[in-house]
Amino acid sequence: MALVLPNGARIVAATHNPGKARELAALTEGRFQVASAGELGLAEPDEPETTFAGNAVVKARAAADACGLIALADDSGLSVAGLGGAPGVHSARWAGPERDFAHAMALVERRLEESGSDDAAAWFTCALAVAWPKGPAVVVVGRVDGRVSFPPRGDRGFGYDPIFVPAGARFTFGELEPAEKEAISHRARAFAQLKAALFE
Ligand code: IMP
Repeated sequence: MALVLPNGARIVAATHNPGKARELAALTEGRFQVASAGELGLAEPDEPETTFAGNAVVKARAAADACGLIALADDSGLSVAGLGGAPGVHSARWAGPERDFAHAMALVERRLEESGSDDAAAWFTCALAVAWPKGPAVVVVGRVDGRVSFPPRGDRGFGYDPIFVPAGARFTFGELEPAEKEAISHRARAFAQLKAALFE
């Protein structure tokens, strides 16, 4: 039987990150009734896996089984070539318990300096997983390439957006209009695959 996410379905967006929740809501374009994990009082699960896809499935599965709704989860992060792909799946952790991204971006800059590498190539990865309560899960992965640039610029977006310049652009994700980021972002690219695979 083919898996389908029917129009109008009530789903839970399994994220406690307001920036991601906002972007996921924009991407779903009112197609579903989306409740957030925060609204439903769901606990934030650990992220034990070493890949974005693995963590996205863990989050979606935990939310779907906890509330009995189809769950959509995102696991994403920034990878820097000169840092061997770090912070990667640890992107949120680099911001510490305070979720201080000014600190996390300064850490990227400092670690790059310490590494002696001048390779500023970087990419964002987004894994999106959909899980059915006590049922199957589907996961897709999107990526956008670019480079990191210091100091941080722009106060749009969230997380590491102010230091990420997508390939071929002059502006950081923090400076772009939300719709401009949505046209090329790792999250939008993953979402397009999900749409092709699961939407009515
Ligand atoms: P996690 O998926 O909850 O582990 O968190 C991933 C972290 O990666 C987020 O807290 C952000 O800091 C960062 N991240 C993921 N996607 C983006 C994005 O689109 N822009 C900026 N930072 C992002």
